[in-house]
Amino acid sequence: MNPDLGIVLRLRPWKESDVMLDMFTDRQGRIIALAKGAQRSRRRFVGLLLNSQLLEVELKSYQKSNIRLLSQARMVNSYPGLHENYQRWLAAGLILDLLLKGTPYLSPLPEIMYLAVISLKRIAQSSHRLEQQNALLLFVNRFLQENGFGLYLERCLFCGRKPDHNDARLSLNGGLACGRCRPRELPVSQGLINTLSAGQRLSLDWLSRLNFTQPQINRLMPFMAAFARQTFNHDLLSFNLLI
Ligand SMILES: [Zn+2]
Repeated sequence: MNPDLGIVLRLRPWKESDVMLDMFTDRQGRIIALAKGAQRSRRRFVGLLLNSQLLEVELKSYQKSNIRLLSQARMVNSYPGLHENYQRWLAAGLILDLLLKGTPYLSPLPEIMYLAVISLKRIAQSSHRLEQQNALLLFVNRFLQENGFGLYLERCLFCGRKPDHNDARLSLNGGLACGRCRPRELPVSQGLINTLSAGQRLSLDWLSRLNFTQPQINRLMPFMAAFARQTFNHDLLSFNLLI
């Protein structure tokens, strides 16, 4: 049996001795898996069942339900860097939160899986906050894109013109606006739009070469938080803590 690769998103005790896991996997997308006896004896899953861990898992069907039975697990990456630093942990928490609340159940999204893996890795190894914020914003931007909710950045959403220099806005309606149509929305530079746009298309292996400046991040973070909250209709508490 070929194992799946999965990220642990959330753990809940189940009945007397089991643990119910939400996971995001490469081949099945978001799943719920039951780890039998994991509360009572953690021997089989020793050190494995923790949020954010990347595991190789063997999943079986369970009775006639949509739930999977977790029969074996092996550590691939525990991302120790995430557990050493609160800011890193918060940033990783948002990625887990988006995977949990913003992906459909049992729908494989391998690009999003790879995006999550490289973003968690970058955050775990980051040495300063700017890098964590960059990894996070690039994740959210691409996550939206791969999910079909990407920001439209070609022309003004309302009049179809290309905004003049210094006249671009980002609108919560889902992308670019010009100052004439939406004077009160967030003013953004062409540079910021170019970075967002590259982040939607660039090969994932190159994503970490893109960088927002600190002033750009300060502008973009509250916008992305509001846009993600509106798109997925969830509070995404961890986003609020990062702004
Ligand atoms: Zn316009």
